[in-house]
Amino acid sequence: MEYIRLKIIEEYAEKFNIPIMQKDGIKFLTDYIKKNNIKKILEIGSAIGYSAIKMALVSDDIKVTTIERDKERFEIALKNIREFDLNDRIDIILGDALEIDLSDKYDLIFIDAAKGQYIKFFERFDSNLNTKGAIVSDNLSFHGLVEDDSKTNNRNTKQLVKKIRKYIDFLKSNKDYETIFYKIGDGISVSIKK
Ligand code: SAH
Ligand code: MG
Repeated sequence: MEYIRLKIIEEYAEKFNIPIMQKDGIKFLTDYIKKNNIKKILEIGSAIGYSAIKMALVSDDIKVTTIERDKERFEIALKNIREFDLNDRIDIILGDALEIDLSDKYDLIFIDAAKGQYIKFFERFDSNLNTKGAIVSDNLSFHGLVEDDSKTNNRNTKQLVKKIRKYIDFLKSNKDYETIFYKIGDGISVSIKK
């Protein structure tokens, strides 16, 4: 049943072009959560709730807080979360993450929202990370364009790629964190507080 419900969400995302995590990316993330005994997660960018649900399904003592600014996606995410009976373990907030203040601490912060604002997300929520917690960022390859942007002539895309590269440099030069970059899915990084 669970498998079929997930399949329906995946197909919905495909049909309406909603950029949910890729298969190997979500596998990497859920494996990481399992291996590192992560219990409290903050996600920036819920879309329709797919990754939040996948993360919560890893173990029934996991709690997820997830933020989505798009009203329509938020509503669909809420519906999906309820269908999985996960509303007591997934707390979804409607709003712009850059305007939301949280006081709780999390074992893992997963950044998967507007690609041009990753430094801002990182700096805003970095104080919400538990000691030895990890900040995971998705789409650092951006369809391979970060490695080679000659495949596009679109100005906005080029601008976005520039910002992602800036974020990668920001992570590499951040002395408070040790970052490992993985060529998995659309490019994932794991930054661990020293
Ligand atoms: N994590 C999801 C996919 C997220 S797609 C999954 O894998 O299933 C990125 C989402 O981030 C979009 O739905 C977009 O509306 C949202 N987003 C972008 N910028 C945001 C912001 N500043 N605050 C909250 N949500 C944001
Ligand atoms: Mg993503």
